[in-house]
Amino acid sequence: MDKLDSSTEIENVVIIGSGPAGYTAAIYAARANLQPLLVTGFNSGGIPGGQLMTTTFVENFPGFPDGVLGPELMDLMKAQAVRWGTKLVESDVTSIDTKNMPFKLKTLEGSIKANSIILATGASANRLGINGEEIFWSKGISACAICDGATPQFRNEELAVIGGGDSACEEAVYLTKYGSKVHLIVRSNKLRASASMIDRVTANSKITIHWNSVAKEAVGHEWLEKIKILESDSQYKELQVKGLFYAIGHTPNTSFLDNQIEIDGKGYIVCEGGRPETSVAGIFAAGDVSDSEWRQGVTAAGSGCMAALAAERWLSEKQLSRQITRENPDPDKSNIKNDLTEEDTNEKTFDFNSDWQKGSYALRKLYHESSKPILVIFSSPSCGPCHVLKPQLKRVISELNGEVQGIEIDIDKDQAIAQQAGINGTPTVQLFKDKLLKREWKGVKQRSEFKDAIKSLIK
Ligand code: NAP
Repeated sequence: MDKLDSSTEIENVVIIGSGPAGYTAAIYAARANLQPLLVTGFNSGGIPGGQLMTTTFVENFPGFPDGVLGPELMDLMKAQAVRWGTKLVESDVTSIDTKNMPFKLKTLEGSIKANSIILATGASANRLGINGEEIFWSKGISACAICDGATPQFRNEELAVIGGGDSACEEAVYLTKYGSKVHLIVRSNKLRASASMIDRVTANSKITIHWNSVAKEAVGHEWLEKIKILESDSQYKELQVKGLFYAIGHTPNTSFLDNQIEIDGKGYIVCEGGRPETSVAGIFAAGDVSDSEWRQGVTAAGSGCMAALAAERWLSEKQLSRQITRENPDPDKSNIKNDLTEEDTNEKTFDFNSDWQKGSYALRKLYHESSKPILVIFSSPSCGPCHVLKPQLKRVISELNGEVQGIEIDIDKDQAIAQQAGINGTPTVQLFKDKLLKREWKGVKQRSEFKDAIKSLIK
């Protein structure tokens, strides 16, 4: 689903946000036959899928005894929501109008009318923007020690935390379980954390506090190796740390609400007593956008469930719900499985005419033998943006009716090909025609950019 037509339908429930809260709300609303419409977000508030898309292994989400990659977990939640009939719109909501019923939402793809809304836009962990931050994000730098602290690369290494609040102190203490030493970098001469938390920090011999210090640069090769900090005496100091954790606060993604819903002094949506109701009847909140305290994937998912149940009750009390009739009470699972478990193409499975294949065998064959343009996405399993971009590229390819062929190369598996192609980050997309590299993109881009470039090669 994509283009929207505001003149027709009124949605039962529109969910804004595609993190654990949004997808859990969607699963519950969809299973209640409300056919929810979920606006995933695209540019605002981080990448679709939320903060777990920028995490590597999630070890604390129940049900995954071996851990699960953050992007993979989000793919699974998305697939589950879609299987039960959630409609997805890949766009940002730019504004909402809550004054009259139905509520109105503006997105970049058009307008939507809705009888209820679930706000699950999350909060973005603040970043510092120091040199090297982009390069070492998820390769040593993280905004969540609780999520990432146990990563093998951090074991018995020196680690650093930036911040002076409860999160920074809690994370510094937590990291002493894994690191040989933890440096707490505080920009002022005091901690703003609670007294008990400060006591735990000062009593811990593995923590060293660097007062009046600010981080300036992250340095390393494949992984973070050290940081440079500037101290109050204008002297630079290097700390040989393998992990750097930001705990400098979060910014909830609520600016598009334009004060129509009560928010607190820090921008979080106000919900009383841990319930999902907001200050506007029929509008509910779930996940980090209304939670400045717990901020875990599992708590977000739980609150998404509550918001969907509350929306369902509200719609039925107001006699506004229009339930769909399901032809098949057990929706088809086969497509989902195929999408989640794509295998590398080999000699036996290679199809010269296929629109989308995976792996170096298919790339070599098509590169040498196909007369069509070839779009190659270089990805890696833990790369959240790759998970966002891949379905976009598949859609471009299907819209071009077989005029172009797509291939995914996992750079972990096909290192030689990645090296040969000069890939130094994921996602990278290369467009080839007649064995020549025509275009290259790094990061997530709009579908139209790929489409225009491909069209210019097939006219
Ligand atoms: P916070 O209280 O807003 O603290 C943010 C910290 O980051 C402050 O020390 C701040 O420095 C520092 N900071 C901000 N921008 C910075 C920058 N650009 N460079 C360097 N430092 C910067 O956030 P939080 O610690 O995440 O806590 C949020 C809320 O959750 C609080 O209410 C907290 O009590 C609660 N919480 C409670 C617990 C617990 O009780 N177990 C655990 C975690 C969080 P300044 O102090 O100089 O402004």
